[in-house]
Amino acid sequence: MPIALEDAVETLPGVGPVTGRLLRERGYGTVGDLVWLLPRRYDDQRTPTPIPSLVDGQYAVTEGVVRAARTFYGRSKRGFEVRVVASESEGSAGELKLVWFSLLPGLLSKLKAGARVRVAGRVRVLRGVPTIAHPEMLGSEGAGRIEPRYSEIPGIRVKSLRRAVCSAVGEAAAQVPDLVPEALRRVARLCTVAEALRQVHQPGPDLRDDELDALLGGRSPAHRRLALEELLLWELALRTQTGSDVGRAIAFDSGSVVETVSAALPFELTRAQHRAAKEILDDLALTRPMRRLLQGDVGCGKTAVAMIACMQVARGGAQTAFLAPTELLAEQHAATIEDAARQLGLRVALLTGSLSAGRQQAVRDRLCTGAADLVIGTHALLSPGVRFANLGLVIVDEQHRFGVAQRLRLSRRTTDTQPHLLVMTATPIPRSLALVLYAGLSLSTIDEKPPGRLPVTTRMVQRGDRSTVLRHVQNALRACGRAYVICPAVTGSSELIGVEGSVEEIGSYLGADRVGVLHSSVPADERRELMRAFAVGEIDALVGTTVLEVGVDVPAANIIVIEQAERFGLAQLHQLRGRVGRAGQRSACLLTYDEPLTEDARGRLEALCETEDGFVLAEKDLELRGPGQLFGYRQSGTGGLRFAALTRDTGLLEQARALADAMLAKDPELLRPAHANARKALERWSAQTPVSREAG
Ligand code: ADP
Ligand code: MG
Repeated sequence: MPIALEDAVETLPGVGPVTGRLLRERGYGTVGDLVWLLPRRYDDQRTPTPIPSLVDGQYAVTEGVVRAARTFYGRSKRGFEVRVVASESEGSAGELKLVWFSLLPGLLSKLKAGARVRVAGRVRVLRGVPTIAHPEMLGSEGAGRIEPRYSEIPGIRVKSLRRAVCSAVGEAAAQVPDLVPEALRRVARLCTVAEALRQVHQPGPDLRDDELDALLGGRSPAHRRLALEELLLWELALRTQTGSDVGRAIAFDSGSVVETVSAALPFELTRAQHRAAKEILDDLALTRPMRRLLQGDVGCGKTAVAMIACMQVARGGAQTAFLAPTELLAEQHAATIEDAARQLGLRVALLTGSLSAGRQQAVRDRLCTGAADLVIGTHALLSPGVRFANLGLVIVDEQHRFGVAQRLRLSRRTTDTQPHLLVMTATPIPRSLALVLYAGLSLSTIDEKPPGRLPVTTRMVQRGDRSTVLRHVQNALRACGRAYVICPAVTGSSELIGVEGSVEEIGSYLGADRVGVLHSSVPADERRELMRAFAVGEIDALVGTTVLEVGVDVPAANIIVIEQAERFGLAQLHQLRGRVGRAGQRSACLLTYDEPLTEDARGRLEALCETEDGFVLAEKDLELRGPGQLFGYRQSGTGGLRFAALTRDTGLLEQARALADAMLAKDPELLRPAHANARKALERWSAQTPVSREAG
């Protein structure tokens, strides 16, 4: 039986249950997922570099003879070290050190004195000696190749992942359907997607340097072909599902509420907030449904702007639905706007999945009868039982956590008019990219923070150095602050630090009654109580998972410890750091990590220590992640554009539009056999189920 794209990864030769589970956890459960996992870089293993010519910081393949091996004891763990010389007769001039912190079975036997080895990896020159940590052991046979390198998946060896993807591509890439019909493909001289995938995964050995550069940069013809496919899907979806020119919205044009809302807020709006609010109100005044993205870095004050929009709509007699990615955040939004809302006479409701059935029903009744002006909620808002008396505006916070399709479904709920749509994101995207990623949305940017914020002092601390961590926490708390401690898991393991263990540690230091625990399985009531206690200072520290990532706002918080920070993505770390120093006080972010750090992880953590500018970090992330993964977009499954962003090329978008035109011109419903693939892809896309991936 041939292997199909939908088959589980375990059907691939060499993928056992353990690797299978790890892949699945990362969202690569099927053979097709692996086919679409693009290399993030390429290791050029064609020409070995002699040991004496190894250069610091470079990826290299090299070879030599094992001289000696020994076990050593580092700060927190045992390591294994092998010294290799260029050839048996040479002295220590041409010496290379290989280091492992965990040994794979079978490795020792290959590393006996006198054995010839061929290894590859990133070289670090330490005390004058070139060193490779966790090198890849290459067979001595045959000429080297250009090997694809995929994003690290902890627990899976580079080689095993490579082998798994390689067999997925070999078995199933040919089955990947083309959206572009063959006739159009021929005119535009496009290769098939299957062919593009093969080229990206398995570049031939005789590439020229410029071709290799293009591959490395995600700019190769094959990459562009994949990006085009994706942009085409996006274009088709926008046109067949939203019908950008069908539907009319209610115009909310009875004067501006900016002054009214400002008066109810405890601060002056910044210039950037004023500008964004004006752009939004201008859109709301039209009968053309607004489709706008409001982007602004963590803490820039998007909520106040959202509130202005909501007030404008309420004054016009209509309702606003505000979708938050997590319950915690929905609850918090409701709490923050409570005071101002009361002053403004805005009737606010909260709808989350953990309300009792009776209370949910009560909220639904208020929405249906028009007894609430604003409902804040999670994806519970999207359930079929929710009806609005007069929905005028949909606000989606942190869009990348919601499937695009979901968003569209909600905005189409009312029959005669379309609601306006405002998408808010704290994921800063360079403008050129935003235009591609959010094709169809206009863009407002808040590029200024409320005055008087001090930079957050960010530093890396070795995981074992607990006294430094605890000292910083103590100092922060002395300044009347509050501490967050973020762990990568709820229950710890030999690999991962868990919330449970961390609570014990912090609790024994601060007193157990001063520490709260927060993760997504803590019931809503308890969570609300915890947030309150933390906000007013009845507890000093909150230990949790990344459920704290998005938007949690406790002004007194002045320190955040992120345990095993190397386990988190750059965007996530930046978001987490945004939780502290929000009242303008001095604040700190400690990133604890385990040695050895992979190069990428080090790059992420160092970037974070160097800058707080979300845009700079977004660029850095793009650079570190390379093809296939942009700033968290993979999280949203097919809902976010993965490849298109990389080419940063609006020319491609035009080509995609032209192709969509050609396909839809005579077949607007995509019913022709030549368009069957496109139709199926769109159906799959809109059937996508809600994904709100909070850890823990
Ligand atoms: P985000 O854009 O990350 O959603 P928030 O809307 O949560 O940011 O605002 C962050 C914090 O800044 C909140 O505590 C909010 O009350 C405060 N804030 C917002 N706008 C201003 C402003 N113009 N001046 C002072 N503080 C502000
Ligand atoms: Mg926010």
